[in-house]
Amino acid sequence: MRNVNAEIIAVGTEILLGEITDTNSVWLARQLRDLGINLYFMTSVGDNTGRIADAVRIALSRADLVIMCGGLGPTVDDMTRDGVALATDRPLEFQQHLLDSIAARFEGFRSRMTENNRRQAFVPQDALIVENPVGTAPSFIVEIADGDKVVLALPGVPREMKFLFSEKIIPYLREKFQLGGTVIRALVLKAAGIGESMLDDALGKDLLEGSNPTIGLAAHSGQVDIRITAKADTRDLADAMIATTETLVRQRVGEHIFGTNEDALEDAVLTLLRAQGLKLHIIETGVPPLVSGRLKAAVEAGDVTVVTRPSPEVLADGMRIRDAVEQAASQAAQPGTSVIAVTSTDASGEDHSDADELSALAVVLGESVVSRSYGFSGASDMARQFMGTWSLSMLWRLLKNNHA
Ligand code: ATP
Ligand code: MG
Repeated sequence: MRNVNAEIIAVGTEILLGEITDTNSVWLARQLRDLGINLYFMTSVGDNTGRIADAVRIALSRADLVIMCGGLGPTVDDMTRDGVALATDRPLEFQQHLLDSIAARFEGFRSRMTENNRRQAFVPQDALIVENPVGTAPSFIVEIADGDKVVLALPGVPREMKFLFSEKIIPYLREKFQLGGTVIRALVLKAAGIGESMLDDALGKDLLEGSNPTIGLAAHSGQVDIRITAKADTRDLADAMIATTETLVRQRVGEHIFGTNEDALEDAVLTLLRAQGLKLHIIETGVPPLVSGRLKAAVEAGDVTVVTRPSPEVLADGMRIRDAVEQAASQAAQPGTSVIAVTSTDASGEDHSDADELSALAVVLGESVVSRSYGFSGASDMARQFMGTWSLSMLWRLLKNNHA
């Protein structure tokens, strides 16, 4: 996509007298933003040929695209045609077919065209005419510098200006500047406490197989990003499409969604703890700071307490590490304090993928206890990826459902 720089020039002494507000430029600025066109200057100029020409010359010296609005009417104070002709060194040319179409419109209105309307049939030489089916003032485009730069003149009446810009000018600009037909927007909904495949099932085929918007899942061991991406002609349209899909996603899996875009699971957990007046106690045994390392600020602030043990006590005969870690967590839990306990019996850091239960985690909140065990060492990369996130996401889930 080409990098296009634009300027807007609003023509009208009414603007400079403070009698009307230049809402046309505001609307055009939004349109340019949505088209991906840079806008660096907006100018207001009165109904004066010389000053309009000056404004156009200055704008053309620094922009590829100059968009003008206003001053295209039939009266002597409508000077945009003359100003553009002067600035681009082109004489005004009479175009009979323009007069004919203006006359035809007046017949449609059952009113009489005045001699003044002849003025509207003059446009700068070689201008492209943009027919105006919603008003009399025809709009025109002047291409200069071998077609590299463009001045376009739109009527001042907002309804006409918006219609012509949307219907006629946008397609012209897309083609002229190879703007690409689409804007792409995305929203990420962040889910926790549910695995990717469960989420997949809960969302349903219809949503997951849609082509616009599309939904993509990215799992981060205990936390899943649901990315909704939409393509449309404008940003507003893409956002509206995303909002519709977001509603459906939330209807189906809303209970698992803790935030959007850059929101962090850590913050979601701390917010719920605070709202429920709870403290968190972390017990890390035979592992690096897998959980406490993610909550440093809260640990420093005293909202989260941490106990670290170098290695687990010898497990009672035949006791599973998962039972042991559940027991440790339950014993430490008190009214008003939830507990995350993480334990590993292996500090080698290697991934023994076929061994079972080298590490385990348990989360306790009130009467609820949840746990998981893993076949990797607590010092391994896998542990770093899985255990911190899963324990936080399981706690988030318990807090979310904790209606006590
Ligand atoms: P017309 O054929 O109606 O004369 P025109 O192209 O000459 O159209 P103007 O005479 O400049 O346009 O403005 C017509 C009316 O449109 C103004 O009286 C004002 O109400 C509105 N208008 C003009 N410029 C703007 C602007 N920049 N922002 C908002 N409204 C505007
Ligand atoms: Mg006018």
